[in-house]
Amino acid sequence: MATTVRRVGLLGGMSWESSVEYERMINQGVRAALGGTHSADLVIRSYDFAEIEALQVDERWDEMATLLATDARMLEDAGAEVIALCTNTMHRVADSIEAALDSAEFVHIADATAAAVVEDRVQHVGLVGTRYTMELDFYRSRLERAGLQVTVPDEPDRTMIHDTIYNELVRGVIDDDSRRRVTESVERLEQRGARGVIAGCTEIELLVRPDDVELAYFPTTALHAESIVTRCLA
Ligand code: GLU
Repeated sequence: MATTVRRVGLLGGMSWESSVEYERMINQGVRAALGGTHSADLVIRSYDFAEIEALQVDERWDEMATLLATDARMLEDAGAEVIALCTNTMHRVADSIEAALDSAEFVHIADATAAAVVEDRVQHVGLVGTRYTMELDFYRSRLERAGLQVTVPDEPDRTMIHDTIYNELVRGVIDDDSRRRVTESVERLEQRGARGVIAGCTEIELLVRPDDVELAYFPTTALHAESIVTRCLA
């Protein structure tokens, strides 16, 4: 069978609330590019997020690296030529995933995001996401290597945002009071000099829309999906 798009493998379910957005956006992007009845060619490995969350809480990053690397390889064996991990946090183990791949291309979410920020000529960005993404070095350092200055919220905002993600967003709960609290924390990042804000958790853009913030807004799910579409059409 002749194919016009390269097969994409998605490591998703972290959480599925945002993975379904990836699936929708990638399909829409391929249809916009190719027209007619075209859609994306996808293979998806979607996890039970409760199991992933438990590993995160115990900081068993080596086990998560082995799990995701093994499954990325499985997607490659299923014909995927482009691989993406549908969560910012789990990019903590992105190096292990990339190392496990034979020839498939790994599309890193922070690279897709940094490229959009640089293109918009924003140098100083705020970063909101899980505690792991805001506090560990793996994500910020990748953005900094792209030339960006990165500021994360102070406490108690970091705890509030982390809890909003795990207690509400990954459970499908969208709450107006939480949106107000998160946007107020973004305003505090603006007061500290940020000129844009990265929604550095794939569920945050389900809660906070571009019009909710004054700053330039960089939604990682949408930017990552856009980059995946570009790569699968290349
Ligand atoms: N999807 C979220 C992220 O982008 C958080 C859930 C997870 O820990 O994977 O970081």
